[in-house]
Amino acid sequence: MGFVKENLADVHEKIRKACSLSGRDEDEVTLICVSKTKPIELMLEAYEAGERVFGENKVQEILKKKPLMPDDAEFHLIGHLQTNKVRQIVGNVSLIHSVDSIRLAQAIGKESVAKKIVSDILIEVNVAMEESKFGISFDEVEPFVEKCSKIDGIRIRGLMCIAPFVDFGDKNRIFFNKLKQLCVDLKAKNIDNTSMDILSMGMTGDYEAAIAEGATMVRVGTGIFGAREYNI
Ligand SMILES: *Cc1c(COP(=O)(O)O)cnc(C)c1O
Repeated sequence: MGFVKENLADVHEKIRKACSLSGRDEDEVTLICVSKTKPIELMLEAYEAGERVFGENKVQEILKKKPLMPDDAEFHLIGHLQTNKVRQIVGNVSLIHSVDSIRLAQAIGKESVAKKIVSDILIEVNVAMEESKFGISFDEVEPFVEKCSKIDGIRIRGLMCIAPFVDFGDKNRIFFNKLKQLCVDLKAKNIDNTSMDILSMGMTGDYEAAIAEGATMVRVGTGIFGAREYNI
């Protein structure tokens, strides 16, 4: 067994435990294998172990890797998206996690309508108001979702956050809890084209804490594929 398969067994075991501790069903949580900078060989090892969803943060990398993977492998864009790359990415990913401006939402909507599809998107929230991070602030989320909901060609599936880097995942539970609450509140408003059934939060260092607070998607890279080198 290669190291990816071993790591995946470990990650799934931890997801199972976190779900059981919080009385949740394991099927409620989707693992996104974050494969950015990693070669196809390792992604295929994950695929063979049963994984189908891969997260990447660069449009070019998705376009390069997608034709090399089996047809039923799905890609999610989890990184910042520039408006000028929208044309290339719409139709090539099943979910865009990182919508953080109306201009971007409009561009995705326009391109989706042109391609006669509806694109599923998440709104990225900057939960700790970190200057280094993208995403909109908590207070802006509701009016933002209201505006987005009027754009044709997109469906707002939920919220996403990248929590602060911490040495101990539980330190982020306060942010995960706030995001979950916001998601529940927005769902209750029954806004058009807005289902609020996806909460994408938790990475290698804090996915168990995120699951405890209600994550439905966790994005794990290092914990599956090992540390990344950015000079490749
Ligand atoms: C890289 C990345 C991840 C995965 O991070 P790890 O700490 O390696 O698990 C998750 N989400 C986003 C948005 C990322 O860019």
